[in-house]
Amino acid sequence: QSLIDDVDPDTATMSLPQSDERRWSDTSAYARKKILQSWIQLPSGNWELGKILSTSGEESVINLPDGKVIKVISETLVPANPDILDGVDDLMQLSYLNEPSVLYNLNYRYNQDMIYTKAGPVLVAVNPFKEVPLYGNRNIEAYRKRSNESPHVYAIADTAIREMIRDEVNQSIIISGESGAGKTETAKIAMQYLAALGGGSGIEYEILKTNPILEAFGNAKTLRNDNSSRFGKLIEIHFSESGKISGAQVQTSNLVFFFFACYSNYAVLLEKSRVVQCAEGERSYHIFYQLCAGASPALREKLNLTSAHEYKYLGQSNCYSINGVDDAERFRTVKEALDIVHVSKEDQESVFAMLAAVLWLGNVTFSVVDNENHVEPVEDESLSTVAKLIGCNINDLTLTLSKRKMRVRNDTIVQKLTLPQAIDARDALAKSIYSCLFDWLVEQINKSLAVGKRRTGRSISILDIYGFESFDKNSFEQFCINYANERLQQHFNRHLFKLEQEEYIQDGIDWTRVDFEDNQDCLSLFEKKPLGLLSLLDEESTFPNGTDMTLANKLKEHLHSNSCFRGDKGKLFTVVHYAGEVTYETTGFLEKNRDLLHLDSIHLLSSCSCLLPQAFASSMLIQSEKPVAGPLYKAGGADSQRLSVATKFKGQLFQLMQRLGNTTPHFIRCIKPNNVQSPGLYEQGLVLQQLRCCGVLEVVRISRSGFPTRMSHQKFSRRYGFLLVENIADKDPLSVSVAILHQFNILPEMYQVGYTKLFFRTGQIGVLEDTRNRTL
Ligand code: ADP
Ligand code: MG
Repeated sequence: QSLIDDVDPDTATMSLPQSDERRWSDTSAYARKKILQSWIQLPSGNWELGKILSTSGEESVINLPDGKVIKVISETLVPANPDILDGVDDLMQLSYLNEPSVLYNLNYRYNQDMIYTKAGPVLVAVNPFKEVPLYGNRNIEAYRKRSNESPHVYAIADTAIREMIRDEVNQSIIISGESGAGKTETAKIAMQYLAALGGGSGIEYEILKTNPILEAFGNAKTLRNDNSSRFGKLIEIHFSESGKISGAQVQTSNLVFFFFACYSNYAVLLEKSRVVQCAEGERSYHIFYQLCAGASPALREKLNLTSAHEYKYLGQSNCYSINGVDDAERFRTVKEALDIVHVSKEDQESVFAMLAAVLWLGNVTFSVVDNENHVEPVEDESLSTVAKLIGCNINDLTLTLSKRKMRVRNDTIVQKLTLPQAIDARDALAKSIYSCLFDWLVEQINKSLAVGKRRTGRSISILDIYGFESFDKNSFEQFCINYANERLQQHFNRHLFKLEQEEYIQDGIDWTRVDFEDNQDCLSLFEKKPLGLLSLLDEESTFPNGTDMTLANKLKEHLHSNSCFRGDKGKLFTVVHYAGEVTYETTGFLEKNRDLLHLDSIHLLSSCSCLLPQAFASSMLIQSEKPVAGPLYKAGGADSQRLSVATKFKGQLFQLMQRLGNTTPHFIRCIKPNNVQSPGLYEQGLVLQQLRCCGVLEVVRISRSGFPTRMSHQKFSRRYGFLLVENIADKDPLSVSVAILHQFNILPEMYQVGYTKLFFRTGQIGVLEDTRNRTL
């Protein structure tokens, strides 16, 4: 006896519900009766595709792929799309747009190495964790000619160029995603495309060749990504009409463009703390290991270099190598890249000397010298090597690491340091040498790239910034990184959602408001003055007696009623980010935020006989003496005034957002399909969580439910008015437009007439364009 309700699975033909029935998560009775396949959520949380054998009453009988037949509550079924829609290249094309269908579609494509999928205006990229045959000149050519139209980073870059020329507006490509999702690779792929358009005559490739330098000095192995970027970068690629490189024509116009690029220096976003400490299983910056593994015997001797195992800064995390990576080989690549950007051999040697100095600083130890627990550095190989490498007097170095000059009223007093203070001073020196070195390198790269400084034309910026991070233990670094991501998320939201809606509303279109998650509350939690996370952190940082515990208590006291904040026990507090809750531990917050650099250290560096430390000292002096807006504080009473790290970070972030604000953005969302960096493994839950938190699903819903095609009355009547049978050409544009709509029988639900524009659903203009092309 058949339990089958009104569908016979063997004979029924698939019929799709009408468009108005295509809801977000459509479980209406109507849809259930028509569908043959459905998604069933298993206890594991994963979705399985099942065949509906029957539906009676509240229950349905389902046949699972493994042959099992189960009974489920009909309400919990989520309709699946017909097979013909398997692997569509834009999620907008799905008839049923629910989470399992989206997951399945991405998975289906992923299995065939189609890692790119559109979600309306957004490109989704699923990290393949292996080489896929999608890149290189032949593919670039295909996208240039538009003979390949499947979603790709190349297509995004191509659109950016065309829109830059057409609208005369700067463009940006904003790449986001969790750590390890593929942002940096994606940025490189976009650059590849733009570089290839330049005709391959030199400088456009230079920028690609600078990658190894920034990666060596700014990337490190973390638990999430063997090659995680620990700094944010914005690459600007400039185009000018009067360039002299030939063969660089973009098909859409006669514009010959000249290509050059520069990095915006957001080095303050570099995670400095990694130089002196990193977590178990992670590594410090690649370049340290590369130097230790790849330096020539002569260089070794000059720098008194030993193996990575001998250096305490590198030894604390118990991880020296990365699977499949040959550090010595990479070192050669970095040296070549330094040659390409015209860093002289002599300067290269100084760079390596600075690295060795940082490593040896970490080995400097201290011994107690009086009965008040004051310490001085032990005079050993480490201390003397540091002095030799940076070119300073060993006594000056000893002084800097054991005493601190302070000015009290008009007197200068000298304070002796205790062990923790001395270690702080040592680590602070190491960190600032390294971050100055990083800044210096970025500057050298920019100098070599910006030949002639022809920054006149339009530009395309590519933003590759560390993604949202949530670990078991989250510290100051995650706090800053997640704050930055919160800002970027708002940019994304504002652009895609608010602008979209506002345009409808402004033009008087009847369009039901779509609620979307705005993260303004969370941003306010960070930024509000005086009672926001950043202000409170800065305030506590100015108190000499502030500790991690007093900070935690202060936050809890002032913020407990904020809905995005939760005080937990001890030093823990939780922030409700757009991407989920993250619990932070205040340990080290104050110290990292203060980031003291005593004037003594600056003086030490400026007294050095080597050129680089001198350059570092002067750049630090400029930094600390600049009149700066925002809260200043006297760091620990020492004779230096510096901005807190968090405040600097916020300032840089605002600058970045301002730059992006003047561009037309293109968004790429990178997705990490598994946490073990392995190819072919697609974990539904992990992907879903990322899709949710980057708003991909919402975007599709909004774009499809809206009217994506728009044209002003004037333009519409001008473009199609001549097709009218009846001659009303003298009428106003609105009347002409309406007459066209009627003549072509465009269904009323397919368009809306706004005050200034006509709005169409997807695909409606096609018929008009076809007729127009035939007639012309
Ligand atoms: P993120 O910058 O988001 O932290 P990466 O861009 O460094 O992540 O990517 C992490 C790793 O994933 C890379 O080292 C690479 O092995 C792999 N990967 C990412 N994108 C691709 C791609 N398009 N093709 C092949 N491998 C990729
Ligand atoms: Mg990266």
